[in-house]
Amino acid sequence: MVAVELKVVEEGEEFKMKIQQLKSDKEKVVLKFSGVNTTFANMLRREVLESVPTMAIEDVEFRDNSSALYDEVLAHRLGLIPLKTDLKSYVIPDQCKCKGEGCARCQLKLTVKVKGPCNVYASDIKSKDPKVKPVFPKTLIVKLLKDQLVEAEMTCILGRGDDHIKFAPGLVFYHNVSEFKQSKKIENAEEVVKKCPAGVFKAEAGKLIPLDDTKSYLWDSCLELVPEDSVIITEKEDEIIFTLEPWGQLSAKEILVTAAEGFIEQLDEFEKIFK
Ligand SMILES: [Zn+2]
Repeated sequence: MVAVELKVVEEGEEFKMKIQQLKSDKEKVVLKFSGVNTTFANMLRREVLESVPTMAIEDVEFRDNSSALYDEVLAHRLGLIPLKTDLKSYVIPDQCKCKGEGCARCQLKLTVKVKGPCNVYASDIKSKDPKVKPVFPKTLIVKLLKDQLVEAEMTCILGRGDDHIKFAPGLVFYHNVSEFKQSKKIENAEEVVKKCPAGVFKAEAGKLIPLDDTKSYLWDSCLELVPEDSVIITEKEDEIIFTLEPWGQLSAKEILVTAAEGFIEQLDEFEKIFK
């Protein structure tokens, strides 16, 4: 586990927050917050899910659809396809100079035209902007039989998760850091390890040893198998493990920075109200 200290914020004597990056790869980022409680973690979680904008297909105009799926079902599937998002070039329609009427700053047209027999994949969606395209080209949209046709023009826009969950940029969850103490020998330690999810514990001479503190939320479910009072788990109220798994529209860094900026904007608005 590589612990890279990213940032230390100190404000007077009362508030001290420390952030450590525990894991970071293409699929997830795991951070450890110290000196804050779950209120802070939940604020950040909600900010990520509801306020960070991403691009998604909002309107679909079918020229032809002779596939087995109704227009509504197909349009719904298209709306859920994660699109690479360019936050620098687009704005949310109701914040655009065109006042939501639709222009090159607040919307982008995509097209699809496929004739069967074949599968229609996300990679068949054509975009004029190379920065906005499906994150996962192999996403299956519909299967077409011989001579069946799908032809549509789609409008994608920037939107937020509190308008529709298709705009959410990823999966976010958190839990408190826990301490694990074993008070007596566990005879069936090997059996517990086998029945637990992989990588949670290892067994050594009647002892259970946690392998990964970021998986402490799984400890409880494993410990139904151990004798009562042999293990004590203590939650630390001011230490939080925060996990973000981006869907791919934005990088983890873009998501967290945009969420933090959104929160600061809200604090500024709050301050103005009370001036
Ligand atoms: Zn516009």
